[in-house]
Amino acid sequence: MAGNKPGPAPGIEGKLARLGMRSRAELALHLPLRYEDETAVFAPEAAPLDRPVLVEARVLKPEVAYRPRRQLVVRAEGLALRFLNFYGSQLKAFQRAADEGLLVRAYGEVRRGLFGAEMIHPRYRLVPEGEPLASALTPIYPSTAGLAQPLLRRLVLEALAGAELAETLPQSLLRRHSLQGIAESVRLLHQPPPQADAAALAQRTHPAWRRVKFDELLAQQLSMRMAYRARRGRDAPALPANGALLKRLLAKLPFRLTRAQRRAMAEILKDLAQPHPMQRLLQGDVGSGKTIVAAIACLAAVDAGLQAAVMAPTEILAEQHYRKFTGWLAPLGVRIAWLHGGLTRAQKKTALAALAGGEAQIGLGTHALFQDASVFARLALAVVDEQHRFGVRQRLALRKKAQARSAPHQLMMSATPIPRTLSMSYYADLDLSVIDELPPGRRPVSTKLVSEARRGEVLARIRDACRAGQQAYWVCPVIEESKQGDLQSAIDAHAALSADLKDLNVGLVHGRLPAADKAAVMAAFSAGRIHLLVATTVIEVGLDVPNASLMVLEHAERFGLAQLHQLRGRIGRGSLDSACILLYASPLSQAARARLKVVYENADGFEIARQDLALRGPGEVLGEAQSGTPLLRFADLDKDEPLLIAARESAEALLEADPAAAERHVERWLGARRDLLRA
Ligand code: ADP
Ligand code: MG
Repeated sequence: MAGNKPGPAPGIEGKLARLGMRSRAELALHLPLRYEDETAVFAPEAAPLDRPVLVEARVLKPEVAYRPRRQLVVRAEGLALRFLNFYGSQLKAFQRAADEGLLVRAYGEVRRGLFGAEMIHPRYRLVPEGEPLASALTPIYPSTAGLAQPLLRRLVLEALAGAELAETLPQSLLRRHSLQGIAESVRLLHQPPPQADAAALAQRTHPAWRRVKFDELLAQQLSMRMAYRARRGRDAPALPANGALLKRLLAKLPFRLTRAQRRAMAEILKDLAQPHPMQRLLQGDVGSGKTIVAAIACLAAVDAGLQAAVMAPTEILAEQHYRKFTGWLAPLGVRIAWLHGGLTRAQKKTALAALAGGEAQIGLGTHALFQDASVFARLALAVVDEQHRFGVRQRLALRKKAQARSAPHQLMMSATPIPRTLSMSYYADLDLSVIDELPPGRRPVSTKLVSEARRGEVLARIRDACRAGQQAYWVCPVIEESKQGDLQSAIDAHAALSADLKDLNVGLVHGRLPAADKAAVMAAFSAGRIHLLVATTVIEVGLDVPNASLMVLEHAERFGLAQLHQLRGRIGRGSLDSACILLYASPLSQAARARLKVVYENADGFEIARQDLALRGPGEVLGEAQSGTPLLRFADLDKDEPLLIAARESAEALLEADPAAAERHVERWLGARRDLLRA
């Protein structure tokens, strides 16, 4: 990047790079975090107390105080400044200022203390009387240790002076969405004119911010759509939507598909019939019936004489899929290979050989078992269940596999409802099908918040339910600090519950259990031989035991919202009245109470996800699973939905009309970070 560097001292470059700035262009787009108003100055006694302001007073006397702790106290006329950390040189400078009759100009919040106005650790300058004020708002930039604002500001302004900031978007597009020019916008944000609307700048509603946010959202949309098109441009086998097996399955399903399931099925079958790889996310709340839709898709591959892979995040879930798939498809003569940790070496070899030879038509297992795509002779479709549980690395690996000229169709399934704005932005590279209704006959789960102190009542309730022939879950939380602790809490709970409920058969399942033991416990629970199942969150996804009607979540306050909703979805699957008990340890923090309230008051996963997004923001919600995708720096999905919609429309139009302009636009805003999206 020689010739296009920011230029300054060597150490600085590393710091700039840490902030994501490697070129002058990127430096020019390093926009302020906020602004400080140093255009007006207040006397200490007249300073407003509700916001940071610039205050000016004559320096009288600096002194080092020792109570309540060592600090520098600078007495000025009507004002005291306190510095808990200070250098000797500061003390000297204030001393000199007092001798010379200089004024201190301090920026920060003013408090009314015992002896008048007080400021703690303000930013300050020592000035002679009559020093002119700033004529415009002062931009404050996101920075890093050792890169002071004045230096960073100077570097940005230098870069801005040399930057071209050519317009990347056609005038027609700008007019349609009432957007102003990019150069004008960026310059205004760096150097707001004296008359600029400070509130609009602070709240980022100013037209200049609007343009920048639009550009950022557009870049994201463009890059996602480019990736989509690239993959869509590859070949895939066209699978018939009306094969003989598919017809037979649909004719003898054990239930009637819901309208939403039929719609999703139609969308998927239509995609599969194309000679290009499908890339579709099937989203549906827990229990909405995604598995049968996946089985139907797999059957389309089998009908074409090809193979399908079904990947689940846990062994337990893979086993459950195996049982369901076998129930539906084995009567049709479909051959299914189930790869799991309980197989002997010889059994595993046989299963792999069946997939490699093409005798097995569907391969089923956890993701780990399919690291190598060559396992399959003729893979036409890959189904990934509980997509949100796969880390970014797996998603990248899957995409890499699809780099070849010809790639399998992909169906991802997720029960974590993704709020509309999130799916429109971070999942814009996928087509979306939504199952937005539950199969008929489901009874709502009643949710109760119960203090740990009433554990005895909860145990009585478990006993009653199990005596009446029902079953229950007891779920223990993940304790962040140690994976071991996670395990221990479940083992302890199992021991305590076994002692308390002697007449019941209490089982235990957790992630560290050998696969075969896990499978045995789950089979016993499914068959009703275990009454109460103590579990860690390994049961979070997918598990389906309709006879289980009661769930206790111990330390509910430690679970995430999406997780609570997922877990609760394990019950209420049969025709029984079900209850979910959120057991909490008092006292509850304010934040924990707010979160539990959301789950307590809402049954709809989408609403919970929306509130989760509002409480935590997209970075947290997307979490590790999507952390490879650059998060938005300027746009706020909550507030900027209209801009997001505009950007989305514009992305398709621009890709059609002017691919070169689209390319320049993405390069400007994403630059080096593009690789992550391309993967
Ligand atoms: P999820 O979407 O959470 O993966 P599943 O596919 O496990 O949900 O379905 C939950 C339960 O509902 C399963 O027992 C499944 O067989 C059943 N089911 C699915 N579709 C229907 C339907 N249309 N009518 C009745 N039961 C259904
Ligand atoms: Mg499922």
